[in-house]
Amino acid sequence: MRIETLAVHAGLHIDKATRSVAPPINLSTTFERDANGDYPGGYVYSRGANPNRDDLEQAMCVLEGGVGAAAFSSGMAAILSVFQSLAPGDHVVAPDDVYRGTAHLLEDVMSSWGLGLDFVDLTDPGRLEAAVRPETRLVWLETPSNPLLRITDIERTAAIAHSNNAICVCDSTLATPALTRPLDLGADLVVHSTTKYLGGHGDVLGGIVVSRADDDFFKKIKRIQYLGGAVPSPFECWLVMRGLKTLPYRVRAHSENALAVAEYLAGHPEVERVYYPGLTGHPGWEIAKQQMGGFGGIISFQVRGGREKAFDMAGRVRIIVRATSLGGPVSLIEHRASYEGPGTRAPENLLRLSVGLEHPDDLIEDLAGALDSRR
Ligand SMILES: *Cc1c(COP(=O)(O)O)cnc(C)c1O
Repeated sequence: MRIETLAVHAGLHIDKATRSVAPPINLSTTFERDANGDYPGGYVYSRGANPNRDDLEQAMCVLEGGVGAAAFSSGMAAILSVFQSLAPGDHVVAPDDVYRGTAHLLEDVMSSWGLGLDFVDLTDPGRLEAAVRPETRLVWLETPSNPLLRITDIERTAAIAHSNNAICVCDSTLATPALTRPLDLGADLVVHSTTKYLGGHGDVLGGIVVSRADDDFFKKIKRIQYLGGAVPSPFECWLVMRGLKTLPYRVRAHSENALAVAEYLAGHPEVERVYYPGLTGHPGWEIAKQQMGGFGGIISFQVRGGREKAFDMAGRVRIIVRATSLGGPVSLIEHRASYEGPGTRAPENLLRLSVGLEHPDDLIEDLAGALDSRR
């Protein structure tokens, strides 16, 4: 089956009691035992499992081609569960432009874990080969990266990780399974902030880990999900499930709109540089063309004139909203360096644009007004 059909039907079952086609939201935290002490409904306590979370985890297994999934209350909680599954002394290689929250998690929160950390440019396989050591247990990659839109070759990175007995984990939040299936390319785990495209409407926070194998590492993640308890509510799972049904169509539209906007920005004299993997001049374009079914909805660009000019431009948009986050129907623009704070790798004149589902010509007119009125 094709992704559009999978997205609609994965995790869908007609409710046995009412024959409802849309899934009911089951808010019960606890489930009855029978006189023998068994749980005939298959559920015990909703931190461990509940019908709406099961639907979501099953659907994401189908969409990513995995055998198991663990849903969390945020993308960061999902990412934390992966790092908490490591042992003290394990060595981790991560991209030097990794999502800022992931870097903070590794450097601050996990510091007492005693992990060895190396942040390297993973777009260059030679740097990864130089960074791996006998204790390297995990290679983290993020493609496209946020906010610099770097493209990492998943197949190649996973192969290097595996030849060193390390696992390869891919944060695929910006790509989504509508564009890339990292497990098919050799990754062992794929991680998403479901807050973004999967939920897709900017109204639910969540995260998920999907695993290629039901191995000890994934079992540990499931233990952390159950015992740590950073789980999404049934309603939040229901909202992400609802988002998944339209994911392939939304991502296609986001990608088309973003390509049009990126091409416009690339030709604008007030724009110094555009970061979008769909532009042929992007250093990752060749790999993106192979491993992505489209180039996604996120663009970063540098305006001429530094930080002040970037704020000035962002201050002039009328349709696009000034806010953080990405992946929803409303286009959002953000000055990334001031959001990320000290240690950011985002240039001071960089704006990140999450291209929404408005008509691209309206977005281009909005950007044109904001850029041109500065002259
Ligand atoms: C947003 C984001 C996260 C964090 O997810 P939350 O749902 O905000 O906790 C992690 N990785 C990437 C690439 C993101 O864009």
